Amino acid sequence: MTDYDAVIIGAGHNGLVCASYLAKAGKQVLVVDGRHEPGGCASTREFTPGFNVSDCAQWLSQFDQSIVKDLDLKGAGLRLGKAKATISLQPDNDHLILDGDHVTGAGIDAVDQAAYRDFRKMVRSFAKLMTTLYRSRPPKLVEQNWTDRLTLMKLGLRLKLLGRERLRDLMRIVMINIYDVMNEHFTHSALKSTLALEAVTGTNMGPRSPNTVYSYLHRATGEHLGQTGTTQVIGGMGALGKALALAAEKQGATLKLGAAVTAIVKTNDRVTGVTLASGESHIGKSGDFQC
Ligand SMILES: Cc1cc2nc3c(=O)[nH]c(=O)nc-3n(C[C@H](O)[C@H](O)[C@H](O)COP(=O)(O)OP(=O)(O)OC[C@H]3O[C@@H](n4cnc5c(N)ncnc54)[C@H](O)[C@@H]3O)c2cc1C
Repeated sequence: MTDYDAVIIGAGHNGLVCASYLAKAGKQVLVVDGRHEPGGCASTREFTPGFNVSDCAQWLSQFDQSIVKDLDLKGAGLRLGKAKATISLQPDNDHLILDGDHVTGAGIDAVDQAAYRDFRKMVRSFAKLMTTLYRSRPPKLVEQNWTDRLTLMKLGLRLKLLGRERLRDLMRIVMINIYDVMNEHFTHSALKSTLALEAVTGTNMGPRSPNTVYSYLHRATGEHLGQTGTTQVIGGMGALGKALALAAEKQGATLKLGAAVTAIVKTNDRVTGVTLASGESHIGKSGDFQC
C-alpha cells in the first residue's frame, strides 16, 4: 500500500502528538503500534476487577497546554486533576506543605516564606526563558533560515528581558548543584531537602550531582508549560493515551493497533516504508516520505 506521507512507529504520546500535527497539516499519516491500546507508557491497567492504576507514568508535569488547545484534547475527553501540593512528613506531625507559592508547617516562619516566594519568582523567570526554547525547533545554524534566526532573536530578547542581575544568577546557578543553591537561599532544612527532592526525582542523581539545577528548572518549565502545574490525569494516564488517539483520528490520522513493525523498508538508502508482523507492508508515497 502506498497511501501515506508518514508512518509513525509507536502510538505513545509522542507518536500520537506528532501524528495529529502532521495530519492537521494535511499529511496522510499512519500510526502503528504493537500493543492493542494507544498511549505507550501513558496507560491504565485494571490490577484487580474494578480497580485501575496508571501502570507506568503517573504524573503529568511536562505537557504543553498549547497541545491541549491545538488538538482539542478536552473535546476528546481529557480531564486533569488539581495541581499537586508536596507534603514532607515531619516526626512531630507539623508537616511541611509546598503548594504553589505558599509554604506552611514545620515551624516555617515569615522569613522562610518570603525566601520561598522570592525563589519561586526567580525560577519562574528562568522557566519563561526555557519555554521559548522548548517551544522552538532547535536552530540549525548552518541553514541560516529565517525561522531559526527568529528563534535565536526571541531567545536573545528573553535573555535581555531577564535583566543583568537575573542573567548573572542564571549563568552562575546552572553551573552548580541544587544542594548549593538550597544553602544559598534557605536555612530551613526540611524546605531545602523537599525542594532538592524535586530536582533529583527520576534522575538517579543526588543533590550534589552536577546538572541538578537544570533538572529542577526543567521540572519548573514543565509546570510553566502546563499552567496547571504537576497533576494527575482523571481516569489514570491511559485516559491521556485515549484522548490523544481520538484527537489524532479526528485530525485524519489512521491508527493500527496490535501491529508490530518487524522491519523498516529501505530503497536506495532512503527509508520508504515498514513491514508489520502480519507480513503486510506499507510503502510511503514517493517524495518526502517520513518514518
Ligand atoms: C517507570 C516509568 C515511570 C515514568 N513516570 C513518568 C511520569 O510520572 N511522568 C512523566 O511525564 N513521564 C514518566 N515517565 C517517562 C514517560 O513514560 C516517557 O517519557 C514517555 O512514555 C515517552 O513517550 P513515547 O511516546 O516517546 O514512548 P512510549 O510511551 O514508550 O511509547 C512507545 C510505543 O511504541 C510502541 N512500539 C515500540 N516498538 C514498536 C514496534 N516495533 N512496532 C510497533 N510499535 C512499537 C510501544 O508499544 C509503545 O506503545 C516514566 C517512564 C517510566 C519507564
